[in-house]
Amino acid sequence: MKKILLLFFALLLAMVGVLMFNTLTLKSKQLIAENGKPLTLAIDSSAVQHLRSAVQINTVSYSDSLKMSEAKPHFDSFIDFLKTTYPLVFSSLEDTIINGRNILLKWKGSNPALQPAILYAHMDVVPVEQNTLTQWKHPAFGGVVADNCIWGRGTLDDKGSLISIMEALTRSLSNGLKPSRTVFIASGSDEEVGGKTGAATIAQYCRINNLHFGFYLDEGMVIAQGVVLKIKKDVALIGTAEKGYVTLELTVNLPGGHSSKPQRETALDVLLSAVKNVHDRPFEKMAAPSTQEFIDYLAYDMPMPAKVVFANKRLFKGMILSTYAKTDAGNALVRTTGVTTVMNAGLQDNVIPTKVSAKINFRILPGQSTADVVNRVTETINDKRVQILTGERFEPSKTTSADTWGFKLLQKTSAEVFPDVLVAPSLMLGSTDSKHFADLTDATYRFFPIRLDNEAIGTIHGINERIKIPYFMETIRFYESLLSNLQTFTPESKK
Ligand SMILES: [Zn+2]
Repeated sequence: MKKILLLFFALLLAMVGVLMFNTLTLKSKQLIAENGKPLTLAIDSSAVQHLRSAVQINTVSYSDSLKMSEAKPHFDSFIDFLKTTYPLVFSSLEDTIINGRNILLKWKGSNPALQPAILYAHMDVVPVEQNTLTQWKHPAFGGVVADNCIWGRGTLDDKGSLISIMEALTRSLSNGLKPSRTVFIASGSDEEVGGKTGAATIAQYCRINNLHFGFYLDEGMVIAQGVVLKIKKDVALIGTAEKGYVTLELTVNLPGGHSSKPQRETALDVLLSAVKNVHDRPFEKMAAPSTQEFIDYLAYDMPMPAKVVFANKRLFKGMILSTYAKTDAGNALVRTTGVTTVMNAGLQDNVIPTKVSAKINFRILPGQSTADVVNRVTETINDKRVQILTGERFEPSKTTSADTWGFKLLQKTSAEVFPDVLVAPSLMLGSTDSKHFADLTDATYRFFPIRLDNEAIGTIHGINERIKIPYFMETIRFYESLLSNLQTFTPESKK
């Protein structure tokens, strides 16, 4: 008995030893800027004015093609606004208008051996719900400057990024930067409704012209302030993968009739139980490759005892996944999610409906597919009376490894402009226009270099969307450094 006990303690000690060894020998994956000082930009009042003007042009996009063609004049004015505001850009770069209201700018590099890079930012915005108008502190399309912020729809999503890129380009051109690598700037007009007449047509143009990008940067994740669990510093989250999407429509057709003598089970009963069964059987928790890299990049900066857990992620996988699954955003990070978003049933209170339907929207983790979702839902419902139809869908993206020159380039640029910020790859929960370029690059990064806390993130597609002016200046500075670093940073000079 004594021997067994001794053996047990010896094993326990060995295990603790291994855990501590892994923790104490962890190396930081963060980069320290050479000069150690942030590259800041004084408040540039013309840049502020430009973003205000951009917000004032209502470029709401619609999935309805008629409404979208009615909105054409707004997009025309927006493109005119860009041309008149950024004359140096339009006289120095080659511009192509694609499908009437999308822009592709080409800044030709001197070295054709370097793969071109592309920076993408959409010009359309989501509408503002009528019933929320009174909750806006400043008009949604006013572009008002107040409290050190520019207010309005699109300041964060995604005109803030587009205008920052244009400002950075102008500054680089004025400073005489001559690119060796060709850099494209693209802006689509319907990201918010799927990108079919915008990004998809730009991508098609690139395909026809045999373009392949060594680096593709789009909107997506941000410099999160106080968002990453246990980490106090701001974290630049770079989306190296994006979840897939599928909507399943469940329909049940059964005889209806008078509500005074109902059947034991109506079409609506069958539908409700199908929906509940799907809800009650969530997908398994999983760490996608980008989430595993996220853990590696942040482990060193985790406080104890979380550091021990992150340093031994294989052993504590279950614990890490369960901890994340406790919050809504964390849950979406570690599993394929499904949520009922639409239900159609019934006309009148004394009539039993015959045809009822529900839509469930799924967001799919990399490593799973739309087919996996359909199979699982069919198996879970297991009722022939429920017809399952597949609607809008796209598969999860490929994952771009953090061990790519493009990631190191973003990391280096971040270290220069934001020396206080940690950088980590991460999984993007929403969707971006980058999906239309999936076959045109092996290196997609979804990152808008702006500091945002939880409250600010909540204003995107919501109420009181606004950008803090000092942070907006940092964003411009980031793109300016990026344009310059893109010229010197090649796969051979990773570090
Ligand atoms: Zn957006």
